[in-house]
Order: sequence, then C-alpha cells, then structure tokens
Amino acid sequence: MTDGAHVATRPAARPREAATHCPYCALQCGMVLRETDRRTEVVPRQFPTNRGGLCQKGWTAAELLDHPDRLTTPLLRDRPGAELRPASWDDALDRVAAGIRATQHRYGRDAVAVFGGGGLTNEKAYALGKFARVALRTRHIDYNGRWCMSSAAAAGLRAFGVDRGLPFPVADLGRADTLLLVGANPAETMPPLMRHLADQQRRGGRLIVVDPRLTATARQADRHLQPLPGTDLAVANALLHVALTEGWIDRGYVADRTTGFDEVRRTVTGYWPAEVERLSGVPVADLEATARALATVDRAIILTARGAEQHAKGVDTVTAFINLALALGLPGRPGSGYGCLTGQGNGQGGREHGQKADQLPGYRRIDDPAAREHVARVWGVAAEDLPGPGVPAYALLDSLGTATGPRALLVFGSNPVVSAPRAARIESRLRDLDLLVVADFLRSETAELADVVLPVAQWAEEDGTMTNLEGRVLRRRALREPPPGVRTDLAVLAALAARLRGGAPSCRIPHNRGPFLTPVEGFAIDPRAVFAELRRASAGGPADYAGVSWERIERDEGVFWPCPDPDGPDTPRLFAESFPTPDGRARFRAVTHRPAAEPVCADYPLHFTTGRVLAQYQSGAQTRRVAALRRAAPGGFVELHPDLADRLGVAEGDEVRVVSRRGELRAPARLSPAIRPDTVFAPFHWPGAARANSVTNDAVDPVSGMPEFKICAVRVERA
Ligand code: SF4
Repeated sequence: MTDGAHVATRPAARPREAATHCPYCALQCGMVLRETDRRTEVVPRQFPTNRGGLCQKGWTAAELLDHPDRLTTPLLRDRPGAELRPASWDDALDRVAAGIRATQHRYGRDAVAVFGGGGLTNEKAYALGKFARVALRTRHIDYNGRWCMSSAAAAGLRAFGVDRGLPFPVADLGRADTLLLVGANPAETMPPLMRHLADQQRRGGRLIVVDPRLTATARQADRHLQPLPGTDLAVANALLHVALTEGWIDRGYVADRTTGFDEVRRTVTGYWPAEVERLSGVPVADLEATARALATVDRAIILTARGAEQHAKGVDTVTAFINLALALGLPGRPGSGYGCLTGQGNGQGGREHGQKADQLPGYRRIDDPAAREHVARVWGVAAEDLPGPGVPAYALLDSLGTATGPRALLVFGSNPVVSAPRAARIESRLRDLDLLVVADFLRSETAELADVVLPVAQWAEEDGTMTNLEGRVLRRRALREPPPGVRTDLAVLAALAARLRGGAPSCRIPHNRGPFLTPVEGFAIDPRAVFAELRRASAGGPADYAGVSWERIERDEGVFWPCPDPDGPDTPRLFAESFPTPDGRARFRAVTHRPAAEPVCADYPLHFTTGRVLAQYQSGAQTRRVAALRRAAPGGFVELHPDLADRLGVAEGDEVRVVSRRGELRAPARLSPAIRPDTVFAPFHWPGAARANSVTNDAVDPVSGMPEFKICAVRVERA
C-alpha cells in the first residue's frame, strides 16, 4: 500500500526491504518493510498468525522511524528542576555510571534498580537481566510484563509446570468446535486474529465471549456472557459445577493425567448456578448452555486474557478456568486446550530470559541452586555472586526513593508514568529518586522526569528475535542502521558495563555493529552473539532455546520452544503425552471466589474498569504520535450506560470526573448500551487529566504481583 496512511516520507535512500514483524502486540503479524526513494512502506506478509492481515497500528508503524519527536542525542538534567539539555554520549554515560557508583557506595548494591519492558527483543531482555545481576549485582529488576501476563503465567506454572501463553499454534483456534474467550477483545487488540475466529464460526463452531462489555468481539459471538467485573472465577466454578452435575467430566483423563480433582469437585459443588447468577448477573441458562457447548464437542478451547487476569485474584481466576479445561480433558488433546492471549509484542520471550525479579534465563528460578550454577557458568561468574530474587514490579516502583527502596532506576522500554496502577503515586516515587535514567526513542512521560535520557534504536533498526503468543521464536530484521547519535540498547548496556568495571570508555565501542565483546568480558553488542549466549544459558531450562538458531527460524517460519536440540524437533503443541511436572501430571487446585479488593460503597457506588481501543497501544507513547491513529482515537473517554448517564444528568460528550480513593480522571462521556449500568470504562492510553491509571487500584495478586487494574470503586460526576 502506498497511500498516505501507510507510509512515512524520508530523505532519499537506497531501496531495500526487510521481511520482519510488527513492533507492537504479541500476534507479531508478518510484514515487509520496504524503503523506496522517499518513504518507508509497510506491506503485509503472509504469516501463520496474521495470514496477510494487519491492523491500523501495524500499517502505520513506519511513521515513527523518521518522526520529528525522535530522540537522536542524549539528554541530561543538570540539577532538579532544570530543563533536560542535549549532551554527548560520553557525558551521559559518565553521569549514569558515576550515579550508579555513588548510589551503590552509599546505600548498597540493591539501591540501584532496573525496569524493563515486554517489547524488548529476547536478546535485550536477556542482556538486561544479565546486566542487573552481573554488572550491577542488584536483586532489583522487574518489568512491565508483570502487569500483562503474570497471573496467567503463575497459574500455568502451578497447573502445568510451564508457562507458554498458547500451548498450541494460533491456527488451532479455527478448528475448535467451541471457543470460550474470557476477558479478551481481539477484535480491537489484535484484529487479524479474528480471521481464525471467523474460520471457526464458518466451520460451524461456536464462539462464546465472557466480558462485562458488549465489545466488538462479543458482538461477533454466538453467545455473550456479561458478568459483573471481578466475578469470572465464580462463573468458571459454576461451569464446572454444571459439568459435574451433568456427568460431563472426562474421568479417564482426570484419573490418568491429573492430581487434586477431589478437592476441586468438593469446592465447586457449592457453586450453584442460581447463586452465581445472583452474584455475577450471568443467567443460569447461559451458564448451562456454555458448559454444554464446551463439554459435548470433540474440540474445545478456553482462552483467558487481561479481563480475567488483571485482578488481585487473577491467578485463582485463571486457575478456575484451567480446572474446567482439565476436568473436560482438554489440555493436550488435538485441537483443544487452555491458553492465554499474551498482550505485549515480546510478552512471552520477555518473561523467559531474566527480566523477572525471580527468574534467570530459560525460565529458571533464581532461587534454584542448580539454575544459579548453570547460568553463572555461562556468565563466567561465581554462583554465590548472583543476587537473590527481587520484588514484583509494583512493589519495586512503590519503594523507589523511600528509606528502604532503591535510590536509582534504569528504565528500558517502559512508560510507568502512564501504565502503572495508582500512577500519581508512582510518578511521585520516580520524582523522589536520586537518579532516573530512561532509554527510549521518544520523550515518553517517564523520560520527561529523567535525569538522563539515552536515545536508542527502534525495531526496524536492529536485528533480533521475539517470541510470540504461541511460543514461536521469530526473527526481527533490521531495515537500516539507527540514525546518527542513536545506539542500540545492547550497546548502551555494554558501554555502561565497561564503565562500571573500569573498562574502556564507550567511544571505542562501535555503536551498533562491530566486535562482539566489549573490552570487559561478557556484554556483547551484536544481537546474534547475544542470542548464541542466550541459547547456552537457557539449555536444560523449561524454556529451552538451545536448538533454536536464526537460520532455523528463517527456514521454518519460526521455532516453537522448547527446542533443546539443533537437529531435533521443536514443540508446536505441548502436553500431548505428559505435563512438565515432577510426576508428569497436571495439578488441579481448588479456588474460591472473593470480592474485589475495593467493594463499591455509598461514596464510590460504581465499578470502574479499563482496557484498550483499536487505534492505540499500551501507554500510547508511540501510537499517540502517529497521525492516522491520533485521528482515529484522539483522546480518552469515559464509557457509560445511557441509564446511568441519565441518572447522573450526563449527556454524550459532557466532560465527567471519575473519582476513586486514589485520584481522578477527566474525559468526555461516551454513552453506550454495551456496558453494564453499574460499571464505567476508560481506555488507559492517555496521560494527564485523562490518565485512567490515576484511578486504578494498586492492590495486587499475592502470587503473581498483578495489580487489580480491572476493577475498583468510583463515583462519576459532571466536571
Ligand atoms: S498491533 Fe498486533 S494485530 Fe496489529 S498489526 Fe501489529 S501485531 Fe498485528
């Protein structure tokens, strides 16, 4: 396509192209980037996940490559309150290294923290985890993926012994007789996925959606269950109750392949559909029809996403749906199973290679002595020198600048000023730091608070790998070099490591290509060299990449992990014969419904929930700058049911305040019968007055650390 919406103009350059993937979500749609005389075009590419489709975000992704807001020089703030000013790389890196040294000298190693992102390539996520543990020797590293998939990850680990979002290829969705989507709205978040769902319905399959809003996805469903936010767990237990009552349990599967069913059976016996209808608002008839649709077909798939997972009981909610899937004998059966729809571009790979507070590469646990020995050997350090586990993202950010928390923070690929729950509090914590360093390619809202901003390369300017929502490792291919003045994240980490160890200054290190190792050992700049090391570090771990090579990825349209042997098969489908648990069986776990962390009351009588819109992505730092996306979704809004609006005296377009105990947002009202009258919704892509996370609750799941983004108590007023 060559119309203005899909191209970015730029100075004349030699024409070339790169077959790569979209920079945004975990569907990782295939695209070709083509550089002609004066522009960079995005052309969709056939790939199994998108089958030639792209959404508007993908079509317009090239616009940021030459965007006027692009950062091309480091920025420094000389003192608190001063403006950021341009600086040389040496000055900026010297300032960061000196700040880290001074902070650790005064307060200890854990006084410096690292915050990563689910959009970083596998190589960068791996290098960032290694940098924290080896160069900084701090236990404090976590990332924004904690706020996306961590509840499903924890539930998957607990039940199956492994966390891979989809344990089967996306194409399996199109073959399911029944597909149950819980808290997922792919029609807006990843539209090309709807091609698979359309296939499924064309073949006569039934699509059932559980969502408090009649979303674009729910409109296409054969059945829509519209529960009160925060009651999905009870709905899942009621579905299992019906299956038990009707005798639909796969008793052979339960006996041969699982443990712990008896306690689950006893627990769900109490979840009478009529009572769950009173609690959730989902009619008994819908509960019964849904259970029947899942239990009486050959192939059924249950998928959860953020709507079910972003709760203080998110792990247990996902567990309830896994219990249902196990009782029906779905996981491991061809064309059936349970899966989670991962959100961020490298949400899957980003959580496998060491960005998480409690993990080492290959999805190893940092508190496992054997794992520490293995990874320490690859890194050339002593296992006892590796720090122990840190704390999850929200706890980490909420401790910044306090008497016991880190005094310095390095942020790579994240914008917590907009994306953190209770964001005003986190913004204030960031302001309390002695040193805030942000590596980004735009001045995000978090970069605006930084003492040092380091301009880094974009997706089309560096090679690497991503792991999509299926656990398929993909190649991200560079179209061109970064612009002058810009370095890759790998080069930044190598240069900082060199300074921290008293090695050669960064001016001797090529900014992108060149020698694989810096003068200090261990921090490679070439992503291919980093990937080779990642393979060794992950070998033998749950997420084993030892047999994955860039050549094999290119030959086979991606490689599914685990893939331990370069000459052996990869693993598109997990659990066919056993589960990676000590006894090879999946584990049921009884879970019970409990109310939201913050119930409604007389002062805050409404439920507030958040989500995404089609034309924006996550904190919006990138997509808000794309003209076509800004035209399509120019600002925040508050969605209200017309009956509620009537009661409040609010008309379409009126500015309203949504007030919680933590703060407020202001945005125009958008009236829609698609939402329950007791619930209001706002998208979370915008900063400032419309920032939805000014309102959200920072209560977290005790297992995953996932904040309760999806429900809190508010009142709504005309502004
Ligand atoms: S944002 Fe997601 S769905 Fe849209 S083009 Fe990119 S990868 Fe595909």
